[in-house]
Amino acid sequence: MSDRTATGAPLRLFNSLTRQIETFVPVHPGEARVYSCGPTVYNYPHIGNMRAYVFADVLGRTLSWKGYKLKHVINITDVGHLTDDADAGEDKLEKAAAERAKSIWDIARHYTEAYWADIQALNIRQPAQWTIATDYVPKMIAFAQSIEAHCYELESGLYFDTSTVADYGRLARAGTDEGESRIEPVEGKRHAADFAIWRKTPPGETRQMEWDSPWGRGAPGWHLECSVMSGEVLGFPFDIHNGGIDHREIHHPNEIAQNQAFCRTSASGANIWMHNNFLVERTGKMSKSAGEFLRLQLLIDKGYHPLAYRLMCLQAHYRSELEFSWEGLQAALVRLKRMVMAAERLVDVGEEGDASHPKLAPLVERFDSAISDDLNTAVALTVLDEVLAAKKIDAGAKRALIARLDAVLGLRLLEVTRAELRIRPRDAVIGEEQVAASVAFRREKRAQQDYAATDRLRDELAAKGVEVMDGDPLGWEWKLK
Ligand code: AMP
Ligand code: ZN
Repeated sequence: MSDRTATGAPLRLFNSLTRQIETFVPVHPGEARVYSCGPTVYNYPHIGNMRAYVFADVLGRTLSWKGYKLKHVINITDVGHLTDDADAGEDKLEKAAAERAKSIWDIARHYTEAYWADIQALNIRQPAQWTIATDYVPKMIAFAQSIEAHCYELESGLYFDTSTVADYGRLARAGTDEGESRIEPVEGKRHAADFAIWRKTPPGETRQMEWDSPWGRGAPGWHLECSVMSGEVLGFPFDIHNGGIDHREIHHPNEIAQNQAFCRTSASGANIWMHNNFLVERTGKMSKSAGEFLRLQLLIDKGYHPLAYRLMCLQAHYRSELEFSWEGLQAALVRLKRMVMAAERLVDVGEEGDASHPKLAPLVERFDSAISDDLNTAVALTVLDEVLAAKKIDAGAKRALIARLDAVLGLRLLEVTRAELRIRPRDAVIGEEQVAASVAFRREKRAQQDYAATDRLRDELAAKGVEVMDGDPLGWEWKLK
């Protein structure tokens, strides 16, 4: 079955739950409802985390491109996520607040704002709704009460008995089988995979964030939060639930178990579960604590435009692991610059474009098949390159088409300027005007074949951290090192 409300090729997406590519059929005709697991705001997101949101953004933009009215929700986890994804360790926010002697609310606000700044820098569209976990605590308590028959109480909290739902953990088994073995034992749990949906505050302790509940003062479990916020805002069943691939092992199987209990069905609560693979470093898994903390701001401080990182993500398929390297980022920046240069050439033409020009139709069709084929952004980008390079098509039509295609890829090709993409580290000791003047003077000397002066100027600039790039095919005359 396909969906008559959509345009172009049928949209085919990989469902982690069935391990198959499936044709997207919305629950509500003409609409697409998507829930993305959002950040735990105890620290800055690293660029790996941001890959998850670039992916969710491309998914949302593709759904819009196909003609669906998108309802997208991303949550902000400001309580309940422990230092281990299961039930061991401390609450990440309580821990950060104690270490930095700040209130949890200050910590949450600071890192939520930092995350939103990254969202904006990467041209990730705002979802229809951000849900903040702490706003939903009374609803979480009501949800937990309605599934109490599936739960048992221990001294440490209320636990979900995973043996009470059909086929617990089938999502995790779609990946590896290491899910269960990674869970730390908790005194009294009936099964290793059982998980806390309410964590009681231990006697004699007070937490900065705690609420009264039928099971005593405490805080909700992280998995409960996402079931409640997704069900509340989108209604079960909704269309797509997504997150990073680590969520396939514990967090999403636990959400599914709760949804099954709540809806009293064996269905998972969402028709399609999608997972982006990880961004990794050459040395292995990306981390916020070990080595260089790869925040988007670090890339910006080193002089890279954040959209180069977005392009780097789009060049890989979301289900493939992507290795971060500075060379890779540099290559993405050069590619972005090439695209922006081609787009800039179309700016001054001033003709009203018509993107439905007959010569463009085959390109639109190929772009649509690529993006409809489980979001094959890498191929979609090559079609966009072809559009940019296409000859004998009037500039207005080309511009209009680029705008349409870029609405899916989100590279801001018609807004960013070449100058903005120049590498400009924050700690550079020389101002841009000064460089431009020296480079222009050197160009003059070169034209006069005064090579002694040319070389001297090159060395002077090098001493100030500027590399002169003679004969650069992109006409990028210099860059800051
Ligand atoms: P967290 O703030 O830890 O809950 O993570 C936010 C999102 O980033 C989740 O969807 C994670 O699955 C995802 N994520 C974590 N690490 C990576 C990584 N290295 N690459 C891609 N996605 C990641
Ligand atoms: Zn979640």
